[in-house]
Amino acid sequence: MSVFSHPEFDGHEHVAFHHDAASGLRAIIAVHNTRLGCGLGGCRMFPYGSDDEALTDVLRLSRGMTYKAALAGLPQGGGKSVIIGDPRRDKTPQLIRAMGRFVDMLGGRYVVAEDSGTSVPDIRLMAEVTRHIGGLADEASVAAGRTGDPSPATALGTFIGLRAAVRAALGRDDLRGLRVAIQGVGNVGYRLAKHLHDAGAVLWVTDLHAPAVDRAVAEFGATAVAMDAIHALDVDVFAPCALGAILNERSIPQIRAKVIAGAANNQLATPADGRRVLEQGLLYAPDYVINAGGIIDIHYEGPGYDEAVVHAHLQRIGLTLSEIFERSKTSGQPTGEIADVMAEAIFRR
Ligand code: NAD
Repeated sequence: MSVFSHPEFDGHEHVAFHHDAASGLRAIIAVHNTRLGCGLGGCRMFPYGSDDEALTDVLRLSRGMTYKAALAGLPQGGGKSVIIGDPRRDKTPQLIRAMGRFVDMLGGRYVVAEDSGTSVPDIRLMAEVTRHIGGLADEASVAAGRTGDPSPATALGTFIGLRAAVRAALGRDDLRGLRVAIQGVGNVGYRLAKHLHDAGAVLWVTDLHAPAVDRAVAEFGATAVAMDAIHALDVDVFAPCALGAILNERSIPQIRAKVIAGAANNQLATPADGRRVLEQGLLYAPDYVINAGGIIDIHYEGPGYDEAVVHAHLQRIGLTLSEIFERSKTSGQPTGEIADVMAEAIFRR
């Protein structure tokens, strides 16, 4: 496994590996760029098939955070961490504390928050051993019923972005009767489903975890579909809210929706897939733009947190996406490439 010559290395400032024998922790922290501020990003716990798979994921995710923070207008850089393991089987308080100590070793170059496979209680445990944490509410916010979980803001931002995409591709503002297929109804996908249901959309859902599907069926009248069928349904919008690389050479020709707008990170398997999506006449909302709600929320976390200010910032996701869609339409360039150029103009300035 090489790091400096890894295809996803992309000039990372820092990549650190850590093993803690006592807890069994095996983890990687990647810090892509700190030009605008410390490398902020979630800690993902996933049963990776190999170390190389974990490295590829953390490098891609970390780079995405630099671009995400820049386009979200935040004074932050990009970083990410991964724990190799199954969160439902391997997670222990000892392991999570060991991860917190690992974060601490980087001295604030990396600030950790929640991601797929980790949650607020995990970040709370890490906070016992490091102060370099985001995504935790202060006492006043906790008293007001908030936890610091960024998922609600990510889901609301994704909903705002999805609306902008539907407006651009289908020319409609009214979501009543809009047909949406959601892949993954976990922390974000479930809340996105709720926003869509409240707006009158009709839903199809799938998830690896059967109870998550049952909940969406019971609460939103969603139709459950097989995992390998969700992307190919005859719907208006396909919303990937599970894991990455869902938009690839094999899946794209099967997509029948006109809009792809979901919260999952790294949806395009390769940059060529961005062009493939465009050539097929699909409007793709670049993942790191539409799912920036969580990082925006984390930015405002702490004393004086004001939900109205956060919501106003989340609305900017829709405006940024509308600009990307417009530029893509006039230039014929894929939306992901347009977003990259816009972000680079900010963090390389
Ligand atoms: P989560 O783990 O709570 O939910 C993901 C869901 O997807 C789970 O229920 C899981 O069982 C399901 N899943 C996994 N593989 C699947 C597959 N192949 N087919 C169908 N379902 C599958 O995670 P989350 O916090 O909801 O995040 C979802 C996505 O959004 C991730 O890609 C994450 O990186 C991204 N994201 C999350 C946030 C956030 O604030 N939580 C912010 C930005 C981006």
